[in-house]
Amino acid sequence: MATTGPEIEQLIQLLARMPGLGPRSARRAVLHLIKKKDSLMIPLSAALDRAVAAVTECSVCGNVDTVSPCHICADPRRAESGLLIVVEDVSDLWALERAGVGSVRYHVLGGVLSPLDGVGPDDLSIDSLIHRAPEFTEVVLAVNATVEGQTTAHYITDRLQPSGIRVTRLAHGVPVGGELDYLDEGTLSQALKARTLI
Ligand code: ZN
Repeated sequence: MATTGPEIEQLIQLLARMPGLGPRSARRAVLHLIKKKDSLMIPLSAALDRAVAAVTECSVCGNVDTVSPCHICADPRRAESGLLIVVEDVSDLWALERAGVGSVRYHVLGGVLSPLDGVGPDDLSIDSLIHRAPEFTEVVLAVNATVEGQTTAHYITDRLQPSGIRVTRLAHGVPVGGELDYLDEGTLSQALKARTLI
């Protein structure tokens, strides 16, 4: 039996579909919103409406923004950059920007190749990447260190080979502040292979 009206139940069900929130935390969030109706629920609702009307995908790089081309693609300081960083998802782009990687440009793939899940090259923005790549001097494949991520990196490298553009990937190894004793064997052997001169 429902303990609240359908409007509240639906709000809980929708919030429970957010990453990191389950039914229990969604219930708590909704209760919090109801208690803070004036200071939180109404502004949140208005912000959602504005965001729904404004969000768009950048036609150049696949980033999400309220304009297309996005602020990063339209930034004149980045126009000179010869570095194109390829990421799986917008969240990876945001992470790199938080890390302050500098005046670079990005290309968002929208996922990775995964035959088991039916994701092929046509499902990702690989063709547009191959098309854009000649503008740059180096393409950095900043895909995740998963099997699918590395398969995708190999596929893109093969496709880019005829263009002669320098293709690199992020180093795999010891994290900053990491202790060797706590690392798994795969990471340690990768770190040894990718050692650099001091
Ligand atoms: Zn863009």
